[in-house]
Amino acid sequence: MQEPHLEEDRSTKFSPSKLSVYQNCPRRYQYRYVDKISRQRKTPETVVGVAVHSAFEELYALVTGGKVPTLPELQEIYEREFAEGWDETVVEKDARFAKDDWKKVGRDCVELYYNGHHPFSADRTVAIEKRVGFPITVDGHEYRIEGFVDRLALAPDGAFEIVDYKTAKSLPNQEHADEDWQLALYELAVRREWPDTKEVRLKWHYVRHGKTLVSIRDEAARVKLLADAGALISAIKHDHAFEPKPSPLCDWCEYRDLCPLFADPIRVAALPPAERAKDGGVKLVAAYAEIEERRKRLKDELKTVEAEREKAESDIADWAEAAKVSVVAGEKAQASVSIKDETHLPTKTGEAEKHALLEAEARKTPLWNEVARLDGHALLEGLKAHRWTGQVLSAAETLVERFGHRTHKRTVRLKRRADDEDQ
Ligand code: SF4
Repeated sequence: MQEPHLEEDRSTKFSPSKLSVYQNCPRRYQYRYVDKISRQRKTPETVVGVAVHSAFEELYALVTGGKVPTLPELQEIYEREFAEGWDETVVEKDARFAKDDWKKVGRDCVELYYNGHHPFSADRTVAIEKRVGFPITVDGHEYRIEGFVDRLALAPDGAFEIVDYKTAKSLPNQEHADEDWQLALYELAVRREWPDTKEVRLKWHYVRHGKTLVSIRDEAARVKLLADAGALISAIKHDHAFEPKPSPLCDWCEYRDLCPLFADPIRVAALPPAERAKDGGVKLVAAYAEIEERRKRLKDELKTVEAEREKAESDIADWAEAAKVSVVAGEKAQASVSIKDETHLPTKTGEAEKHALLEAEARKTPLWNEVARLDGHALLEGLKAHRWTGQVLSAAETLVERFGHRTHKRTVRLKRRADDEDQ
């Protein structure tokens, strides 16, 4: 078991993405927000995402000022942002794609969005990159939930639209959009800022696909969301272990070299082959693997021996029954054979359904007063010991008749011959 973490989370502000980090992996949250270990990890995807967002930010700033840029002008803005973002710190994971391929991904996003929304007059932009937030009381303490809305717009029908741009390769479905809580938390902030708001639409533009998803939350969903966010903050504040939570997201985690699940494999992989074999941990694991291998071999062998033993016992019992004897003599040992016919009742663990039926039937009879909790063993023992008479006896007999099954139990025990033991 891991030592409890000595630091506590001292945050007073939570963004939806911060809450998401905790939800996905408390240990990653600890590294980032409690220990405050800074690991800026730039990937081609993040460079494209930031450049596209910046281009759209400038686009709507121009549109709000009364000037609609041309597509080449917008692409020039994008390319400028991309060039500024792409530096030597970018971590490329897939050698099949070069810098220009990534630049084109963003250019295509910009073009698709531009052509789909030009002349950008479907709504009125209220704010771009707007900070929104609201206070929340959790366990008697005041916190704030805060974040940035990509664009806040007013639709012609008077509804607020909270707009988010996504440059991700994957396109989620409507169900996913309806479960998202980042924009939904922003909605709570918008409603507090403009209390007379009737409708708020949450809108995601998946700009790689030219597809827009919209989600509308009702009052009940908003109340639940607030309660869930409060519960999550409470969990963070009470967490002292920040357990790692492995998932496919680990592939993208910037703290793998610190994480207890990956730190040692990363360390060992970096060792020169000659040193690897001498490493303390590597040696221990090799020894353990060998023991496990032996254990498995012995288990398999034991299984075979058990099967052979069963067969030998059955052969001896057959032989004893045919010869009408209960002790079969060998040269150095003798096998005693006990043959009994027994009745078995269904057990709770063996045949749960039958057992429940038996109990239900037993409850209907006077016998139930005798065995207030159904105990098959007590029932059989009671019959054997002639403990009951009259109605109780007849109920017990009926139940055993209905639910019992008889077996012909044969037990074989091996005993060394005394004269052999002396040798
Ligand atoms: S590697 Fe995975 S389990 Fe470890 S901290 Fe990162 S996300 Fe969590």
